[in-house]
Amino acid sequence: MKAIAVVPKKKGSARMIDVDTPVITATQVLVKVKLVGLDGTDKEINEGSYGEPPEGEKMLIFGHESLGEVVGVGAEVKAFKRGDMVVATVRRPDDCINCQAGEYDMCLKGDYTERGIKGRHGFLSEYYAEEERFLVKVPQSLGDLAVLLEPASVAEKAVRTAFTVQKRMKWEPEIAMVTGTGSLGLITAMILRLRGLEVISVDASDDAYKDEIFSELGIVHFNAKKINLHDIPHEIGRQIDIVIEETGSSSVAMHAIMVAGTNAVVVLASVTGGDKHIEICSDCFNQGLVLGNKTVVGIVNAHRRDFEQGIVDLLAAEARWEGLLAKLITARYPPEKIQEALSSMRENIKVVIEF
Ligand SMILES: [Zn+2]
Repeated sequence: MKAIAVVPKKKGSARMIDVDTPVITATQVLVKVKLVGLDGTDKEINEGSYGEPPEGEKMLIFGHESLGEVVGVGAEVKAFKRGDMVVATVRRPDDCINCQAGEYDMCLKGDYTERGIKGRHGFLSEYYAEEERFLVKVPQSLGDLAVLLEPASVAEKAVRTAFTVQKRMKWEPEIAMVTGTGSLGLITAMILRLRGLEVISVDASDDAYKDEIFSELGIVHFNAKKINLHDIPHEIGRQIDIVIEETGSSSVAMHAIMVAGTNAVVVLASVTGGDKHIEICSDCFNQGLVLGNKTVVGIVNAHRRDFEQGIVDLLAAEARWEGLLAKLITARYPPEKIQEALSSMRENIKVVIEF
């Protein structure tokens, strides 16, 4: 079967290869891949700055945002049948207490593997095999939009975490700010709108296409090239209660913490693999957190329940803003054009590979 693999740590190595079609065991499901979304991690894997092959192998089949159809089930599989549409979760557990409790996203030891990222093949292949407990059944009515479920699960974890930590007090949030308007930022903004919040988005791009999306969602957007992040609360005349940071920039993250209002929660979700240094007023930073009773929390990956909530919210979003989710998938490429697909990510919201 066709698959797309990289030689990890080798720049620009993503290419089509031919591998054996997987054979399933009694507890596994065989999935025919339909769509695989690409994100920043995939770009970094192709650039050679990230990614780890399975033990004893040289290549890594990457891709972790999947949508596929069940075409085979092992004799002991209970929850799936042929024809079901499924999205696979990404992380696989180690033996730590969190993983053993089903909280792989909160892994304590770090010996987890991740499909398509760390020590385990991903989904950029015609077929993959998986244990049924790592698959999530998606409604047929979502169609291709279900390829957005994996990024949506991360957005769900961010929003869930914000509301969970704020149980520390009486809290009636009104305004949320999302920094970064890639597919993750837009889906996060959408979820926050579904929770009844006013939403502000901030990023450094001028994009008429996105402006339409902001307007349909009822989001107030600020261009970071035209306004300093610190001036936004003054500009809107109100304080910001929730900040969800998804720009991929650690300096934006530091400033976003400072911009959050009294009793606010700041969720940091950007993976920043570099070694950037910035200068900030550490007294101001600390004083703001202390006197503002603010909390800052980092999140990565997602729990299974975040995938389940993601389905609920993708359906709700489609009902409320019909056709809007489809506008997030801005480019489709065949597997043969993987390099072209990866280089087109800059000018796209979500690029998908169609098998
Ligand atoms: Zn663990």
